[in-house]
Formats: sequence, C-alpha cells, structure tokens
Amino acid sequence: MNLYEFQAKELIGRFGIDIPRGRVAGSADDAERLARRMAFPRFAIKAQIHGGGRGIAGGVRFASSPDDARIVAGELLAKPLVTSQTKPSGERVRWVYVEEAFDIAQEIYAAVVVDRARGDLELLVSAAGGVDIEERAAADPRVIARFPVDVTMSPPESDFIGAAHAVGLTGGIAQKAAEVFANMARVATGLDATLVEINPLAITTDGRMIALDAKLSIDPNALFRHPALAALRAQIQMDEGDPKELAADRHQINYQKMDGRIGVVVNGAGLALATNDMLIDAGGKPANFMDIRTTASSLDIAYGVGVILENPATQVVLINIHGGGMQRCDTVAEGVAVALRRARRQVPLVVCFAGNNADFARTRLKGAGVSFIDARDMSDAVSHVMSIVAKAAA
Ligand code: GDP
Ligand code: MN
Repeated sequence: MNLYEFQAKELIGRFGIDIPRGRVAGSADDAERLARRMAFPRFAIKAQIHGGGRGIAGGVRFASSPDDARIVAGELLAKPLVTSQTKPSGERVRWVYVEEAFDIAQEIYAAVVVDRARGDLELLVSAAGGVDIEERAAADPRVIARFPVDVTMSPPESDFIGAAHAVGLTGGIAQKAAEVFANMARVATGLDATLVEINPLAITTDGRMIALDAKLSIDPNALFRHPALAALRAQIQMDEGDPKELAADRHQINYQKMDGRIGVVVNGAGLALATNDMLIDAGGKPANFMDIRTTASSLDIAYGVGVILENPATQVVLINIHGGGMQRCDTVAEGVAVALRRARRQVPLVVCFAGNNADFARTRLKGAGVSFIDARDMSDAVSHVMSIVAKAAA
C-alpha cells in the first residue's frame, strides 16, 4: 500500500525526522487560504499522486505568495499528471501539498527497503539524490551504497555513521544523517513498511537536514496491526479503485472485470483461474474473474451475481462451484436465485455443482424456478457455454 507524500511525511515526522511544515489542499481556494495562514516567504506546491517522477514532469512547483499559491495549485489540480511512473494517461491530482520551501545545498538519497534475499532490511544511500537518481543508478549501480540493517535490534545511531560517511558527510551533519537513517529503520519496523524512501533528504543552505520528499509503502498483510493505516487504505481505495470491485470486496468476493462476454461465478481463486483458462483454451472470453470467499453469505453472492448480470456484455453465465465445508453449493444456489429474481434481464445459465450439497443446490435452483443447463463436469460446462456463445454470434 503506497501512501501519499503528505501522509508519509506526517508519519516519518512522528519518528523524529525533520519535515517541512505544510498542509494538504483540495482546491485552489484552500491552497491560498492555507498559504496565507502559514505565511512562509516561499512555498513548494506539490501534486499528490502515488507515482514518483513529479519533479521532472512539472508536478512540483513554487510560489512566493498566497495569490501565487492559488494560481499554481489551480494549474496542478486542473489536469492529470503524467510522469515516467504513472500510466500513460497520468494520475488525477486530487490534492496538492502546500509546504515551506527551502534553499538546498545538497540532496541526499536515502531508502530503507526489505532485502528479500537476506530476509532483513537494507539501507540504500547516495550522495547525489534528486529527481534523476533512478536513471543514474540504472546506468551505474555504484551511485548507491548499500548497508545491511538488523531488524531484530533497535539499531543504535553509531551503526549508521558509516553510511553517513559513505555519502561524504563528516562531523555534526554526519551525526544528523546517521540519526535520520536510524529513524528510517525505526519507521520500517514500527509501521511494517516495505519501503521508506527520502529523496531528497536535503541539507539546506542554513545547515538543516530536512526530508523534502518521502515515500512510504506499508505491507498490506500487516495492516491489522495498524488500524489507523488501515483506515488510510480505505481512503486510497476509494480514490483509486473501481467502485464495483470495492463493493464486491465488502461482500467477500474478489471480482475483477474483464472484456469478454462470459460471466463466471466461481468459488476459490484457483478454481476461478482454471475455469477462465478452460474458457480461453476453448476460444471463449470471460467477462470477469470471480472468487467467492468461504465467508460470503447467500446475499453477498447475490450481489456478486448481480454485478455480472448488470454487465451488458454478459451473454451467458457459467456457475462453477465446488462445495466445501464452509461454502456449500446450496448457499451459492440461493444467492444465484436471489440475483435472478432481482435482475432486469435473463441470460442463459450453465451450472456445474460438485462437492458439498451439490444435489441439494440443483434442487433449490429448480425449486426457485430458475432454468439452467445442468453440466456433468467442467469440460461439459465449457462446451455448453461455447455452443451458446456460438449461437449468439450466428
Ligand atoms: P519527485 O520528483 O516526485 O520525487 O518529487 P520531489 O518531492 O522529490 O521533488 C522534486 C525536486 O524538487 C526535488 O528533488 C528538489 O530538487 C525540488 N524540491 C522539492 N522541494 C523543494 C524545496 O522546498 N526547495 C527547493 N529548492 N527545491 C525543492
Ligand atoms: Mn523525490
């Protein structure tokens, strides 16, 4: 889970890393009002998107008055920002961050990442940070020095002084850098972050060391330990996700829309992949991927089947369920029956029930007045689906 810069900065700030003072704004009016209140001589106005590369793409701008801040913020919010790290159409800018701008003497690159090979953390540092570090590091890996970090210990600052020297710092400023590096390691362990990146970690002309940009990725599997971050995830998903996929997720269903015409209702991700593979091998095109989790109730399933029926591209629906101990075939049958009763249109149904309560499920579907093709097994189901598709095309 990638956080916005403003969220990342607030979090690393709590771990004692010096960050510019700033506020997030959702409109040009907001940006002006906040700039007026903060009253800095100069402001950095920064597009908040999840991809990096904003500097080169014009997503980091400067303003020397609140009026200026309004104009710049308005321009940034007006159109999607396209950078080397976004999709070609860019990312919509919903927020700009308005913060104090600094005069930079040197830009250092620093990141704490998970070293998967060692199963531990690693600190990456470079004396020459800034907007083109990725390019330069790709051309010459020696641009970045690497240091192992031991997560099992709360690492003392002295462990990091070597890294500070490696980027050419000495004396008091090296001490400051070592503290920042140690705090970055504490962020990684404390927040279950898989990436803590500060670029640039700026040394200002008046000798301060400030994180002018921050990137934070949190391990989604650890979110149960961080309820406040889990709430941020809900916000990020709302900003970015497909509303149907998110609603399906709340209904205990993994749903992904695809561009074919065959709706598929399946329980279990493996069975869902196998089903879609068989359809594609037979020349068919699935309209979706669907994995009904064991925790889905019949009404959750009715929601998922409803999404498939609402999709105007859906010509036929294949229901391929292997009933288990928790998710039995009859629960799915009940959900399908509810969805069909609610649906505004009918499409042919091919059903393959196997495992727990398969017979009972067929009885329930019939009892609910649903007409369907009862397939013997998966291959039989796929060939029925393909002949329906072929008829529709004729
Ligand atoms: P990124 O390109 O998406 O990584 O965005 P950054 O937040 O790193 O900003 C890009 C560049 O803008 C930085 O490398 C700095 O050179 C510059 N920058 C950002 N904030 C300030 C600031 O407060 N003062 C000055 N002078 N430059 C800044
Ligand atoms: Mn940056």
